[in-house]
Amino acid sequence: MPTSHPPATARAAQRKLSKYRAKRDFGITAEPSGREPKGKAKGLAYVIQAHAARRMHYDFRLELGGVLLSWSVPKGPSLTPTERRLAVHVEDHPLAYASFEGIIPQGQYGGGTVVVWDRGTWEPEGDAEDGMKRGRLTFTLHGAKLRGRWHLVRTRLDDGKHENWLLFKGRDEFARESGEIVDELPESVVTGRTLDQVAADADAVWESNRAGAAPRS
Ligand code: MN
Repeated sequence: MPTSHPPATARAAQRKLSKYRAKRDFGITAEPSGREPKGKAKGLAYVIQAHAARRMHYDFRLELGGVLLSWSVPKGPSLTPTERRLAVHVEDHPLAYASFEGIIPQGQYGGGTVVVWDRGTWEPEGDAEDGMKRGRLTFTLHGAKLRGRWHLVRTRLDDGKHENWLLFKGRDEFARESGEIVDELPESVVTGRTLDQVAADADAVWESNRAGAAPRS
Protein backbone atom coordinates (compact mmCIF):
# COMPACT_ATOMS: atom_id res chain seq x y z
CA MET A 1 0.00 0.00 0.00
CA PRO A 2 1.42 3.43 -0.90
CA THR A 3 2.66 5.37 2.10
CA SER A 4 0.84 8.49 0.88
CA HIS A 5 -2.50 7.00 1.97
CA PRO A 6 -3.74 8.65 5.12
CA PRO A 7 -3.99 6.36 8.10
CA ALA A 8 -7.40 4.93 8.95
CA THR A 9 -7.82 7.41 11.82
CA ALA A 10 -7.35 10.36 9.48
CA ARG A 11 -9.92 8.97 7.03
CA ALA A 12 -12.38 8.31 9.85
CA ALA A 13 -11.79 11.86 11.13
CA GLN A 14 -12.65 13.29 7.70
CA ARG A 15 -15.94 11.34 7.71
CA LYS A 16 -16.75 12.59 11.21
CA LEU A 17 -16.37 16.21 10.01
CA SER A 18 -19.01 16.07 7.25
CA LYS A 19 -21.68 17.65 9.49
CA TYR A 20 -19.26 20.42 10.55
CA ARG A 21 -18.37 21.20 6.92
CA ALA A 22 -21.96 21.16 5.70
CA LYS A 23 -22.83 24.04 8.06
CA ARG A 24 -20.07 26.39 6.91
CA ASP A 25 -18.86 28.31 3.84
CA PHE A 26 -15.06 28.36 4.14
CA GLY A 27 -14.88 31.09 1.49
CA ILE A 28 -16.58 33.40 4.02
CA THR A 29 -15.64 32.24 7.51
CA ALA A 30 -12.03 32.08 8.74
CA GLU A 31 -12.76 28.92 10.73
CA PRO A 32 -10.63 25.89 9.70
CA SER A 33 -12.04 23.41 7.18
CA GLY A 34 -10.44 20.44 8.90
CA ARG A 35 -8.10 19.64 6.01
CA GLU A 36 -5.12 21.28 7.72
CA PRO A 37 -2.20 19.00 8.63
CA LYS A 38 -2.10 18.04 12.31
CA GLY A 39 0.67 19.73 14.26
CA LYS A 40 2.78 17.79 16.70
CA ALA A 41 1.26 18.01 20.15
CA LYS A 42 1.97 16.24 23.39
CA GLY A 43 -1.04 14.37 24.64
CA LEU A 44 -4.67 14.87 23.67
CA ALA A 45 -5.79 18.46 23.13
CA TYR A 46 -8.36 20.14 25.36
CA VAL A 47 -9.86 23.57 24.67
CA ILE A 48 -12.75 25.73 25.81
CA GLN A 49 -13.84 28.58 23.53
CA ALA A 50 -16.08 31.36 24.84
CA HIS A 51 -18.51 32.10 22.02
CA ALA A 52 -20.72 35.16 21.96
CA ALA A 53 -23.18 34.04 19.29
CA ARG A 54 -26.96 34.56 19.23
CA ARG A 55 -26.71 33.08 22.72
CA MET A 56 -23.58 33.22 24.85
CA HIS A 57 -22.05 29.78 25.50
CA TYR A 58 -18.78 27.95 26.05
CA ASP A 59 -17.64 25.27 23.59
CA PHE A 60 -15.94 22.44 25.48
CA ARG A 61 -13.74 20.29 23.21
CA LEU A 62 -11.69 17.14 23.77
CA GLU A 63 -9.44 15.50 21.16
CA LEU A 64 -10.33 11.89 20.41
CA GLY A 65 -9.96 9.76 17.29
CA GLY A 66 -8.52 12.57 15.15
CA VAL A 67 -11.27 15.14 15.85
CA LEU A 68 -12.43 17.42 18.66
CA LEU A 69 -15.47 15.99 20.47
CA SER A 70 -17.59 19.05 21.24
CA TRP A 71 -20.21 20.14 23.73
CA SER A 72 -21.95 23.51 23.98
CA VAL A 73 -22.16 24.62 27.63
CA PRO A 74 -24.50 27.62 28.07
CA LYS A 75 -23.30 28.58 31.58
CA GLY A 76 -19.70 27.43 31.16
CA PRO A 77 -17.77 25.20 33.56
CA SER A 78 -17.95 25.55 37.35
CA LEU A 79 -15.30 24.59 39.90
CA THR A 80 -18.08 23.66 42.35
CA PRO A 81 -18.75 19.89 42.16
CA THR A 82 -22.48 20.27 42.91
CA GLU A 83 -22.89 22.68 39.96
CA ARG A 84 -23.77 20.30 37.13
CA ARG A 85 -23.72 22.26 33.91
CA LEU A 86 -25.81 21.35 30.88
CA ALA A 87 -23.49 20.37 28.01
CA VAL A 88 -25.22 19.79 24.68
CA HIS A 89 -23.27 17.34 22.52
CA VAL A 90 -22.69 18.93 19.10
CA GLU A 91 -20.86 17.94 15.93
CA ASP A 92 -17.19 16.93 15.95
CA HIS A 93 -14.82 19.77 15.02
CA PRO A 94 -11.41 19.63 13.28
CA LEU A 95 -8.31 19.57 15.49
CA ALA A 96 -7.19 22.91 14.00
CA TYR A 97 -10.29 24.52 15.53
CA ALA A 98 -8.57 24.51 18.94
CA SER A 99 -6.60 27.64 18.03
CA PHE A 100 -9.46 29.56 16.41
CA GLU A 101 -10.05 32.98 17.95
CA GLY A 102 -11.80 35.81 16.16
CA ILE A 103 -14.99 36.57 14.32
CA ILE A 104 -17.43 34.23 12.61
CA PRO A 105 -19.23 36.47 10.09
CA GLN A 106 -22.90 37.24 10.76
CA GLY A 107 -25.17 35.05 8.67
CA GLN A 108 -22.69 32.17 8.96
CA TYR A 109 -23.35 29.26 11.31
CA GLY A 110 -22.49 30.41 14.85
CA GLY A 111 -21.91 33.99 13.70
CA GLY A 112 -20.30 36.01 16.51
CA THR A 113 -17.08 36.35 18.50
CA VAL A 114 -14.81 33.56 19.80
CA VAL A 115 -11.95 33.59 22.31
CA VAL A 116 -9.82 30.66 23.40
CA TRP A 117 -10.85 30.72 27.06
CA ASP A 118 -8.69 27.79 28.20
CA ARG A 119 -6.53 25.13 26.61
CA GLY A 120 -4.13 22.34 27.40
CA THR A 121 -4.36 18.57 27.40
CA TRP A 122 -6.70 15.96 28.85
CA GLU A 123 -6.26 12.40 30.09
CA PRO A 124 -9.22 10.01 30.10
CA GLU A 125 -9.64 7.46 32.86
CA GLY A 126 -10.14 4.17 31.05
CA ASP A 127 -11.15 3.80 27.41
CA ALA A 128 -12.61 7.09 26.17
CA GLU A 129 -14.24 5.63 23.01
CA ASP A 130 -16.07 3.18 25.25
CA GLY A 131 -16.93 6.00 27.65
CA MET A 132 -18.54 7.97 24.81
CA LYS A 133 -20.71 4.96 23.92
CA ARG A 134 -21.72 4.45 27.55
CA GLY A 135 -22.29 8.18 28.07
CA ARG A 136 -19.83 8.56 30.91
CA LEU A 137 -16.38 10.17 30.72
CA THR A 138 -14.09 10.78 33.68
CA PHE A 139 -10.88 12.64 32.95
CA THR A 140 -8.14 14.95 34.16
CA LEU A 141 -7.70 18.41 32.63
CA HIS A 142 -4.29 20.05 32.38
CA GLY A 143 -5.34 23.56 31.35
CA ALA A 144 -4.28 27.05 32.37
CA LYS A 145 -7.59 27.67 34.17
CA LEU A 146 -9.16 24.24 34.64
CA ARG A 147 -7.25 21.43 36.34
CA GLY A 148 -7.90 18.18 38.06
CA ARG A 149 -10.68 15.68 37.74
CA TRP A 150 -13.87 16.28 35.73
CA HIS A 151 -16.92 14.30 34.67
CA LEU A 152 -19.18 14.34 31.62
CA VAL A 153 -22.31 12.23 31.99
CA ARG A 154 -25.06 11.78 29.39
CA THR A 155 -28.60 12.34 30.66
CA ARG A 156 -31.80 10.67 29.52
CA LEU A 157 -33.22 14.03 28.48
CA ASP A 158 -33.05 14.30 24.74
CA ASP A 159 -34.61 16.79 22.34
CA GLY A 160 -34.42 14.26 19.52
CA LYS A 161 -31.60 16.12 17.76
CA HIS A 162 -28.95 16.54 20.44
CA GLU A 163 -27.77 14.54 23.43
CA ASN A 164 -27.75 16.41 26.71
CA TRP A 165 -24.80 15.73 28.99
CA LEU A 166 -23.79 17.24 32.34
CA LEU A 167 -20.30 18.65 32.90
CA PHE A 168 -19.11 18.89 36.50
CA LYS A 169 -15.99 19.09 38.63
CA GLY A 170 -14.71 16.10 40.57
CA ARG A 171 -13.82 16.53 44.23
CA ASP A 172 -10.12 17.28 44.54
CA GLU A 173 -7.77 20.10 45.53
CA PHE A 174 -8.84 22.15 42.47
CA ALA A 175 -12.55 22.14 43.44
CA ARG A 176 -14.14 25.20 45.11
CA GLU A 177 -17.39 25.82 46.94
CA SER A 178 -18.27 29.17 45.37
CA GLY A 179 -17.51 31.65 42.62
CA GLU A 180 -17.75 31.54 38.84
CA ILE A 181 -14.40 31.12 37.14
CA VAL A 182 -15.82 32.17 33.76
CA ASP A 183 -16.66 35.59 35.28
CA GLU A 184 -13.46 35.88 37.32
CA LEU A 185 -11.16 35.05 34.40
CA PRO A 186 -12.99 36.05 31.19
CA GLU A 187 -9.92 36.74 29.02
CA SER A 188 -8.43 34.67 26.22
CA VAL A 189 -5.70 32.39 27.54
CA VAL A 190 -3.78 33.00 24.29
CA THR A 191 -4.06 36.77 23.68
CA GLY A 192 -5.42 38.13 26.97
CA ARG A 193 -8.32 39.74 25.12
CA THR A 194 -11.97 39.73 26.17
CA LEU A 195 -14.79 38.96 23.73
CA ASP A 196 -15.51 42.70 23.50
CA GLN A 197 -11.87 43.46 22.68
CA VAL A 198 -11.80 40.81 19.94
CA ALA A 199 -14.95 42.33 18.46
CA ALA A 200 -13.49 45.86 18.71
CA ASP A 201 -10.22 44.75 17.07
CA ALA A 202 -12.17 43.22 14.19
CA ASP A 203 -14.14 46.46 13.76
CA ALA A 204 -10.84 48.39 13.65
CA VAL A 205 -9.50 46.12 10.88
CA TRP A 206 -12.76 46.48 8.98
CA GLU A 207 -12.69 50.28 9.27
CA SER A 208 -9.04 50.52 8.18
CA ASN A 209 -9.73 48.21 5.22
CA ARG A 210 -12.63 50.40 4.17
CA ALA A 211 -10.63 53.62 4.60
CA GLY A 212 -7.46 52.31 2.95
CA ALA A 213 -6.96 52.34 -0.80
CA ALA A 214 -5.46 48.84 -0.96
CA PRO A 215 -7.98 46.35 -2.23
CA ARG A 216 -8.26 43.07 -0.40
CA SER A 217 -6.56 40.28 -2.25
MN1 MN B 1 -20.19 27.65 19.62
